[in-house]
Amino acid sequence: MKMTYLASALLLVLSFSAFSQTMPEGADPKLWARALNIHKKAIIIDGHNDITGPMVDQDLNLATDTRGMIQLGGDPIHTDLSRLKKSGITGEFMSIYVSGSTLATGGSMRRAMDLIDATNREAERHEDIVTCTTANEIRQAKKGGKICFLMGIEGGYAIENSLYALRNFYRLGVRYMTLTHNVATAWADAHRDIKHNGLTDFGKEVVREMNRLGMFVDISHVSEKVMHDVLDITKAPLIASHSGVRGVNDHTRNVSDSVLKRLPQNGGVIMVVFYPSFLDERTNREENERSARLKPQVDALREKYKDDNAAFVKAENDLMAANPIYIADYKRIVDHIDHIKKVAGIDHAGIGSDYDGVPFLPKPMQGAEDLALVTYEMLRRGYTETEIRKVLGENLLRAMTQMEKAAGNRQISAGGSLKKLK
Ligand SMILES: [Zn+2]
Repeated sequence: MKMTYLASALLLVLSFSAFSQTMPEGADPKLWARALNIHKKAIIIDGHNDITGPMVDQDLNLATDTRGMIQLGGDPIHTDLSRLKKSGITGEFMSIYVSGSTLATGGSMRRAMDLIDATNREAERHEDIVTCTTANEIRQAKKGGKICFLMGIEGGYAIENSLYALRNFYRLGVRYMTLTHNVATAWADAHRDIKHNGLTDFGKEVVREMNRLGMFVDISHVSEKVMHDVLDITKAPLIASHSGVRGVNDHTRNVSDSVLKRLPQNGGVIMVVFYPSFLDERTNREENERSARLKPQVDALREKYKDDNAAFVKAENDLMAANPIYIADYKRIVDHIDHIKKVAGIDHAGIGSDYDGVPFLPKPMQGAEDLALVTYEMLRRGYTETEIRKVLGENLLRAMTQMEKAAGNRQISAGGSLKKLK
């Protein structure tokens, strides 16, 4: 009897050891074990990961143990192969992020090319990683115990106003495009840069061409008017690859109830971001106040260390550490999921961490390895296993299948739009 108990306890430990070991403080161990079990069985898809930046800028090999490492800009690194395995993620959307500053400097398409190559490099280099472009391939990867890298362009600057380039990005495997980052493109407004009152005629053509190809339109970062303009014309479900909701925190990066209410009709998924400043009003306010208050000191440090980026980054991080702010915890993520469930329905919530794209994560998360905390919190709030699995990945898989079916002429170029914008 005793041996059997020990053996099953050992089995329990073995089967859960692949996942996060950080049981939340005060958690019910039985519920935690059940959460880990659901988490392990689920197909988990994360809408947004910016580890691609360090993969190019720091030649990062994902076999590296990145715990405690920082990026060139000073933000912490949240991802490596071992941490991804612990996260339980099967489908990771690798961000092909292009900054709006490229509108002035040029080089947006080159940056996208570099990030796409680095994504393929890591998949080729590591047996546990494959590249995927379809919902079915994600399901197959789960069966084979592999991690899928998918790609999404963040910042429509990357196509340099060319539908021809858009089609080639599709060929390279890109399956979503966030129409803007924080500044407007020549054809779509960003959440804090309104130039066109929504989508221009060319912007609408971009959406139609993405529909035809089978590429998700991503409404993270765009203005609310653009979100509605997309909903008016899209034939496929849209996604927000990494956004919260305004019903919990009224931030311009988040999605309003008026957009949420249109999701049942559209089939889209809001993949909830983990960045505490988007999740929580107090964190956002204190972070903004701190930035304004410390700006003279940061500027002085930048001047002092203008020839030594590493020294500047360290000094800046030390200054922030000496001026702590309130940081919301992981339960705040589930507040946003609750709100989506209430307004749009459980079929329209997902997760979009923004790992490696943010200066801090909700407490006590350190990186991808702590993802099971979200599953635990949903379970604690009474979500059923079916609901949890929808949020973790099944909703995105359903939307992706719908998006693939809505795609039209399968000749990528021969069926394509010839509209041009200088
Ligand atoms: Zn972003």
